[in-house]
Amino acid sequence: MSKEKRRVLTPDEKSELLSKHEVCYMCLETLEGYSPDEIEFDHIYNYADGYPQDLSNFAPVHASKDPRKLNCHKAKGRKSPHEYREELRIKSKLEKISGLKDLCQTAVQSVYSISTDKKSITINGDILPLYNQKIGNGDNLYFYHEIETKFIEDDDKIQLRPLEPKILPMIFHLKQSVQLLPSLGRLDPDSKTIKIFDGQHKAVAQIIGNNRKKIQCITFVNPDVDKMRIVVYQAHSDFLQQRYKKPHIDAKLADIYKQRIEAFKKRVGDHNARYSETDILTGESKANIRKFLLASIISEIQLERNFIRDYAAQSRTEQKRRPILWQSIERTIIKLCNLEPVKEFSDSENNFRSDEIENICFILDQIEEFSIKNKWDPYNSESKSHQLSRTYYYRTAFNNWINTLEEALKFALEQMQGVKIYDALCYRKTFSPDIKSRFITIIKKLFEHPLWVQEGIQKEIAKTNQDSVVTEIFKREGLDYIYLTKL
Ligand SMILES: [Zn+2]
Repeated sequence: MSKEKRRVLTPDEKSELLSKHEVCYMCLETLEGYSPDEIEFDHIYNYADGYPQDLSNFAPVHASKDPRKLNCHKAKGRKSPHEYREELRIKSKLEKISGLKDLCQTAVQSVYSISTDKKSITINGDILPLYNQKIGNGDNLYFYHEIETKFIEDDDKIQLRPLEPKILPMIFHLKQSVQLLPSLGRLDPDSKTIKIFDGQHKAVAQIIGNNRKKIQCITFVNPDVDKMRIVVYQAHSDFLQQRYKKPHIDAKLADIYKQRIEAFKKRVGDHNARYSETDILTGESKANIRKFLLASIISEIQLERNFIRDYAAQSRTEQKRRPILWQSIERTIIKLCNLEPVKEFSDSENNFRSDEIENICFILDQIEEFSIKNKWDPYNSESKSHQLSRTYYYRTAFNNWINTLEEALKFALEQMQGVKIYDALCYRKTFSPDIKSRFITIIKKLFEHPLWVQEGIQKEIAKTNQDSVVTEIFKREGLDYIYLTKL
């Protein structure tokens, strides 16, 4: 890589760029009303990665210090301009839609015919095999295909739910991973359109995130709509538990340890043998196993919540914008989750991996509620509430309160259940409403302890880089698990 210095643009070059770009490169909003000192000229591709410093590799972006105006330059953080622009594009697209119905409003009619032996269907020029799930004497014909988006529309008769917040992490996930299951649709004999009734999140994620012109789909041919509605409803209610119980860590094991799983099956002489985390991870060093489980749990959380994406800072500099250091995120998981391999099969009642994710997400929700929401505001960094939120997340402060919190939650749980707890707090059946409400009280109490708002203490915490200094403050001010669990 060249050690070339960052090119400094002349005023002439800047105005040349401004005449070419009317909008901010990142957010695509106008630059009008932004004075020269409110505009930065960023590299489109990082020159640190070896891209040339030609004028064409520069573009203007918002960089206003006025809190009422945009500062895309700052908001980008350590992401590449490209990555950040993509994030903004996706978020703004999502804001404009409530579901697949807004993306694919009215489908083009499909032209199709079914062969007399019902073994194939010709649809929009493609000949596809047709399958039949016979139930009793009834036919249930369906086919699999990647269908052009112009031929699909939302099924307002069966589709139950609007888009959920999980769509955003799902979009980023599907930019890097294959989609495992197709969407489901039905060929409607009256409208002659293909109506998508399940898996709209995947479809939307592919269309918006990856600009796909085709989506993978299993299509039922003229099914009984009322029956189908009940089946879909049941799948999302009665059988939901089962669906969610699907082995999440096992799936990751399967990705990474394919050969090892094969070897295990060979060893036990059964091609369909089930396996547990222990079966597959045996032989790895303890440290590697913990690393693997930690990474798996973090990625599971990211599928459920935006917490990590929104709040984790990769460095001290990035912590100006996002409250929680990455190491603190990891420490939270290490403290509260089970990083020992589980012996039980994933579908066993005594395997709590799925519950564990629900439980840790619940705790993170409360931490967000009481320490970040309506407080953390990097654009108004002098405000009292931002300073408060900032104080919680100095490494030294965090390292102390996460210990105290874990102790308090465990103690409360022991009190409520009347048994000593030796294993990870979150690795157990989903917390009951009673436990949840007790935990909420404790977490609220932690962040509302009077010590946090004292300016002298805030300064003390900001200054130190030793955990023991904050330990002393906690002791002096009486913040410990007994205080937090006192009823
Ligand atoms: Zn902008």
